[in-house]
Amino acid sequence: MSRPPYTVTLIPGDGIGPEVVAATVRVLTATGIPFEWETQIAGAGAIGEFGTPLPPRVLESIRRNKVALKGPTETPVATGHRSVNVELRKQLDLYANLRPVESLPGVKSRYERVDLVVVRENTEDLYSGLEHVVVPGVVESLKIITEKASTRIAQFAFDYARPHGRKKVTAVHKANIMKLSDGLFLDCCRRVAKEHPDVAYEEVIVDNACMQLVLDPQRFDVLLLENLYGDIVSDLCAGFVGGLGMAPGANIGVSAALFEAVHGSAPDLAGKNLANPIALILSGALMLDHLREHDAAGRVRQAVRAVLAEGHALTRDLGGAAGTTEIAEAIARRVQAA
Ligand code: NAD
Repeated sequence: MSRPPYTVTLIPGDGIGPEVVAATVRVLTATGIPFEWETQIAGAGAIGEFGTPLPPRVLESIRRNKVALKGPTETPVATGHRSVNVELRKQLDLYANLRPVESLPGVKSRYERVDLVVVRENTEDLYSGLEHVVVPGVVESLKIITEKASTRIAQFAFDYARPHGRKKVTAVHKANIMKLSDGLFLDCCRRVAKEHPDVAYEEVIVDNACMQLVLDPQRFDVLLLENLYGDIVSDLCAGFVGGLGMAPGANIGVSAALFEAVHGSAPDLAGKNLANPIALILSGALMLDHLREHDAAGRVRQAVRAVLAEGHALTRDLGGAAGTTEIAEAIARRVQAA
C-alpha cells in the first residue's frame, strides 16, 4: 500500500526564489518520499494579484499543513510593505530560527572544519516593527525583549544541543550597554543553562563574538542570540562555508515550521539559472528531519557532499560554470541512486 503524502505549503517567492524552490522540489521528489505541494504566492509578486505581499490564504495554508518550504521574498528598503518573513514568523509564532553552518567538501573557503549552529530568536527585539517619529528629525525604534520569548529560545537551544551532540551554548549579547533588555535575555539564558548542567554555557559580548568568530569559528558550537544579532551573525557565519548559497535555515514554532535559506531574493541573479540552490536543498533536508524522515534527510546531505566533492556541476559562486538546474539534477540523481 502506498503511503499518504505530506502536504506542504510551497512559497516560490521573488527573484531567484522560484528557481531554487523548483530545484529543491526536484531533489526532495527524488527521495521517494511522497509530497503534495500546495503552492501559495507571497512576496512582492503577490501584491499585483492580491493587493498584499502576504495574502491571508498563505497563512491559512501553513496553519492547515503545519509545514512550509519557502523561497526568499523581497522587502523594499526604508519604505513600502513590511517584511513577509517578519510577518510570517510573528503570525505563526515561529519563535526559533535554526541555522546550521557546516564546512562541506570541495567548497573554497579560508575556513575549514566549521561546524556550528546559530539559534536566533525570531519574534521580537528590534524586529517588532514599532517605530515612530517623536518630533521631526527624531525617530524611535523600540527593542522589545520579554522573559517569555527569551526563556523559550534558550530552552530551544539547550534542548537542541543534547540530542545533536552539541557540547556548548554561547549566549551573545550587549548587556554591558543594554542592561535592561539584553540583561533580561541573559538572566533567562542563565536560568535555563542551570537546568542543563551537561551542556557548557558561556556569554560573549556581540562585537567580541564577531571578532572571535572571524579568528577562530571552531571554538563555537551553539550560538544563542536575540533577533537582530542573530540575523547579522548568520550571514557572517555563512561566509565561513562558501557564502549565502550554502546556508540553510528553519523557522520552528509549536504548531508550524517553515524552512527557508538564509539568503534573500538575489535580484542580480534572478531568472538567469545562476543561483546556487544548495542552501534551500539543505533547508529541505532540515524539513525531512522535522518530518522524522531522517534516512531521506541523510541521503540528501550525502548527495550534496558527493556532488560538491566531485566538483563537476558547481554553480558560479562555488567556482564552477553549472546552472541551478544542472547542480540540482546532479544532486537529485545521487539521491535516487542512494
Ligand atoms: P541576498 O541574499 O539576496 O544577496 C546578497 C548577495 O548574495 C548577492 O550578491 C547575491 O547574488 C548573493 N546570493 C544570495 N543568494 C545566493 C544564491 N542562492 N546563490 C548564489 N549567490 C547568492 O541579499 P540582499 O541583496 O541584501 O537582499 C535582496 C532582497 O532579498 C531584499 O529585498 C531583502 O529584503 C530580501 N531578503 C529576503 C530574505 C528572505 O526572504 N528570507 C532574506 C534576506 C533578504
